[in-house]
Amino acid sequence: MAVHDKAAEHINPYEVAKRQYDRAVAYLDLPQGIVDFLRVPKRELSTNFPVRMDNGDIRVFTGYRVHHNTVLGPSKGGIRYALSVDIDEVRALAMWMTWKCALVGLPYGGAKGGVVCDPYSMTQGELERLTRRYAAEISILISPHGDIPAPDMGTNPQTMAWIMDTYSMTVGYSVPAIVTGKPINVGGSQGRTEATGRGVVICMHEALRRAGHNNPAEISVAIQGFGNVGTYAAKHAFDLGYKVLAVSDVTGGYYNANGLDVDDVMAYTATSENHWLRGYPNADEISNEELLALECDVLAPCALENQITEKNANDVKAFLIVEGANGPTTPEADDILFSKGVDIIPDVLANAGGVTVSYFEWVQGLQSFFWDVEEVNRQLGRVLIKAYDEVARNKDEHNVDMRTAAQITAIKRVSDATVTRGIYP
Ligand code: NAD
Repeated sequence: MAVHDKAAEHINPYEVAKRQYDRAVAYLDLPQGIVDFLRVPKRELSTNFPVRMDNGDIRVFTGYRVHHNTVLGPSKGGIRYALSVDIDEVRALAMWMTWKCALVGLPYGGAKGGVVCDPYSMTQGELERLTRRYAAEISILISPHGDIPAPDMGTNPQTMAWIMDTYSMTVGYSVPAIVTGKPINVGGSQGRTEATGRGVVICMHEALRRAGHNNPAEISVAIQGFGNVGTYAAKHAFDLGYKVLAVSDVTGGYYNANGLDVDDVMAYTATSENHWLRGYPNADEISNEELLALECDVLAPCALENQITEKNANDVKAFLIVEGANGPTTPEADDILFSKGVDIIPDVLANAGGVTVSYFEWVQGLQSFFWDVEEVNRQLGRVLIKAYDEVARNKDEHNVDMRTAAQITAIKRVSDATVTRGIYP
């Protein structure tokens, strides 16, 4: 089954990213030239390359790598394998990476990459050849001090190991810091696989605590997407005692009114076809649309863009949305949800746990000095709560929603750095 979303075809994520930017930048008194500069990608690479398939055929694939901004440091951003990938999706994801890294105070700019493919219909051998060739194609842009990829939808630690190996073979020595999200046995960090989902729950927990909800057992959570982000968001929420009512993936949703046993769901997907939920026995089946409209307290979209739109925003029953995915809510839906009093912890904050621990992995790799998981998780919590505080302060100061407040915080940091550095030459 292809990982592809119909709604995404009609809404351009780059247009969404620019509208969010325009909304936030209006609160900052910036020179027009700086406003224009931060609104566009710095550089873009598109590449068409051949891959030999298992049956001997040669197929041509299209890939991209976009650097949105590098003012704060080397660019950082994941690589996505999906049929939905196009240049505008990659541009949007790169722009969101710039704001995310700036927001949580990492010395990084924003980038993103992707290949138009359906990884679930390819064999490991085909994926390895595609990955190595794509890594070679983008090698003119990536480097441990220039641009550091990581996993995103459809890619995983194994993909990162192949990229690291390809790059290392080319330069003649091992370069672990070329990617993050690697397997631990080749220089990955403790806690990186779980980090994005863990961060989603750290932010959710903080929002609930501030709203006076101190008993996780009384809070029900629905999670769309059961890949890297959704799985570990569900797991961490479950471990803290939250009631995980429903989870879903591209094959459909699974609901249990008494709360799912997330360990049991994970044991099922550990051995299911493509790690999909399809056929999970200890729950009732629902659709992804039903999951988004479920009677619950917290909704965590952790799959892909444009899931909550003007068409279904009014159906949302949750009082809090925590965006594990990038760009799951459109600006029209933002307005509807704001008027309904639904709080949103925006993607650039809610899913920043991944890039934060990627940064820790990069630092550990450069120093060849590795931390234990307790240290990683302690530092992760510190970084996210500090960023949450800053966003909450800007929300009150400007009387705006959390997304606009997060973007104001991030844009200000990047624009200040741009002015301090000066315009070359
Ligand atoms: P993944 O490929 O591991 O998982 C994606 C999940 O979404 C899968 O369960 C898939 O079946 C599901 N899905 C795909 N299309 C769907 C649809 N139409 N309806 C419902 N479910 C669907 O990807 P991931 O790494 O978990 O990334 C998910 C989201 O989180 C993306 O928006 C990504 O950009 C964002 N994100 C990921 C990370 C990370 O560290 N992996 C960090 C920050 C943000």
